[in-house]
Amino acid sequence: MALFSKKDHYIRINPNRSRREEPQAKPEVPDELFSKCPACKRMIYQKELGQEKMCHYCSYAFRIGACQRLALTVDTDSFEELFAGLETTNPLDFPDYLEKLALVRQKTGLDEAVLTGRAKIMEQDVALGIMDASFIMASMGTVVGEKITRLFEYALEESLPVVLFTASGGARMQEGIMSLMQMAKVSAAVKRHSNAGLFYLTILTDPTTGGVTASFAMQGDVILAEPQALVGFAGRRVIESTVREQLPDDFQRAEFLQEHGFIDAIVKRQELRETIGFLVRLHGGKR
Ligand SMILES: [Zn+2]
Repeated sequence: MALFSKKDHYIRINPNRSRREEPQAKPEVPDELFSKCPACKRMIYQKELGQEKMCHYCSYAFRIGACQRLALTVDTDSFEELFAGLETTNPLDFPDYLEKLALVRQKTGLDEAVLTGRAKIMEQDVALGIMDASFIMASMGTVVGEKITRLFEYALEESLPVVLFTASGGARMQEGIMSLMQMAKVSAAVKRHSNAGLFYLTILTDPTTGGVTASFAMQGDVILAEPQALVGFAGRRVIESTVREQLPDDFQRAEFLQEHGFIDAIVKRQELRETIGFLVRLHGGKR
């Protein structure tokens, strides 16, 4: 009986389906329509981010470029750029470094990872620096260090307060020890500015890490931060594997650092301009 007879082949391989099917691609959401908040992971309709680019669930301030920051911070048409056009000479002859820089310059429209100049904020004259994470993660190389040093020296000469928005992935590895040296160079300029009794305000934005945190980001007379900004020296995984402990979820977030006394205040983006103006005026700002 056919019922009990053994079939020669009872498993066959479908030649058209010999491989496991690829998992279906996730539905694509156009970038310009929705953004995922890196802090609370919720999807936000782009238009709801507003001009300030803030998550309305958790107040996380999305990363913005130097030009956008400028528009949100300074009095209209008051910015005058200083120390533009400085370029690194690739001190370590790092392969393809200059080509990479040229490409990033073209893409971002910036000279380097920091924009420096003089501006008015709420009618107060300030020396202003804005680091931009879209430029090689605002890593600090010789040019970044030089521009910030010159900004402090200019502020000292002109008796101006310095307002600096920090963001950085750390030292620029393509410049090795030369970039680490910038930490000491900028710190010395900060000290000379401070000795003259002038005010230095830092605003830590997402992310401020590495050598920048270990030097001028934390040397402000007043240190502000944007909500949920990542601020730290080494990365979480490096620390966890060194101390062999699991770290809390909010470790290295601005709120955690404020609780532990590293940051004076966390200010929402839409209140930053007024807060900066108030603090500069309070510390003898110049009109
Ligand atoms: Zn959020």
